[in-house]
Amino acid sequence: MAKHKTPLLDQLESGPWPSFVSDVKQEAEARAKNEKGLDYQIPADCPADLLGVLELSYTDGETHWKHGGIVGVFGYGGGVIGRYCDQPEMFPGVAHFHTVRVAQPAGKFYTTKFLRDLCDLWDLRGSGLTNMHGSTGDIVLLGTQTPQLEEIFFELTHNMNNDLGGSGSNLRTPAACMGMSRCEYACYDSQELCYNLTQEYQDELHRPAFPYKFKFKFDACPNGCVAAIARSDLSFIGTWRDNIKIDQEAVAAYVGGEIAPNAGAHAGRDWGKFDIVKEVVDLCPSGCFKYEGGKVAIDNKECVRCMHCINTMPQALHIGDERGCSILCGAKAPILDGPQMGSLLVPFIEVNKDDDFQAIKDVVEGVWDWWMEEGKNRERIGETMKRLGFAALVKAVGIDFDPRQVQEPRHNPYIFWKADEVDGDWDRDINEYRKRHQR
Ligand code: SF4
Repeated sequence: MAKHKTPLLDQLESGPWPSFVSDVKQEAEARAKNEKGLDYQIPADCPADLLGVLELSYTDGETHWKHGGIVGVFGYGGGVIGRYCDQPEMFPGVAHFHTVRVAQPAGKFYTTKFLRDLCDLWDLRGSGLTNMHGSTGDIVLLGTQTPQLEEIFFELTHNMNNDLGGSGSNLRTPAACMGMSRCEYACYDSQELCYNLTQEYQDELHRPAFPYKFKFKFDACPNGCVAAIARSDLSFIGTWRDNIKIDQEAVAAYVGGEIAPNAGAHAGRDWGKFDIVKEVVDLCPSGCFKYEGGKVAIDNKECVRCMHCINTMPQALHIGDERGCSILCGAKAPILDGPQMGSLLVPFIEVNKDDDFQAIKDVVEGVWDWWMEEGKNRERIGETMKRLGFAALVKAVGIDFDPRQVQEPRHNPYIFWKADEVDGDWDRDINEYRKRHQR
């Protein structure tokens, strides 16, 4: 018998998709029975009360979670998001319902032992409810009470060799794709770089000192499995600077129907007989892919590394050999000013483990120095960039200007410059200009 009646929530179970309501009910029932005889350290009816307070919110049309009270563990400024209910008498099981963010491993590879240990810990000291994974990428442990936090932290760090993730105005838990562990397109070892920068920037992760949140994400190729370009303040996207490798025999096999396009994956459509002009030539965004006389030719200097041709004919085309990554800056979800994609800051940089990724760290630290100096409170770097101009960031970080950083031609014909940017001999300059243009 359910502790609270939940007619509104029950409707959420009626659609064709799995429902979180069913999951919470299952956990509430399991805790009510407690067949394993667990010694729950927070009220066993926590999931039941969670359903109750959510139903009340739906009835009232307003949330019953309140702000207030910073909670955390000793020495860390982030990692736990405090949450309290404004109806603790009615729902004592969720009087506190703090969220604990736990760093996920790079590429999200787990051992079953780790997952079992995590579930045991959360059954004992939390609600038993998790979110695998939150949108930043962390393991999200939903709902515990203040006295449990240090215990959870001790267990995670001492016995499970793990750590809390980021929250608040700090570096958020960095996230990487599977990279070289499974993917033939990986242009650099995204997991290695993610792990290295996570270790290097422990202080920035755990002690909030930034104007606002800051996210790193690592995609080892432009297919972008962690969508770094849209979801991180600084994205590291694998790329190559030489030519796409072409196997003309395999091209002929695709055209002749011997090899299925798109690696045989139908992706919800019938490819029919493979038409290389329709499927690749016409869809190349920069018009640099040609198919003439039964052969493929690519004008590589125009290629924007979109991956479309490679994804469509993976046995015939392959990423180049001179590999590294591009660094893009400033993506964010809508906060004040609408969503924003990252802007290209560094077109190509080597990802060099031998020098401990120092060149990349120099860029990271240059970006942070500028933002910490110029950023307003609660301003994402993408917003600072827009407010002060992208050129200000490029200059501050000490990167060379590059035409590839230009998104589109300027709309404003006026050019502004500072006196110290020209040598001051205006008459000489204007005369030379006039001579050149014969005026
Ligand atoms: Fe064209 Fe994209 Fe292939 Fe480059 S990767 S040749 S831009 S389809």
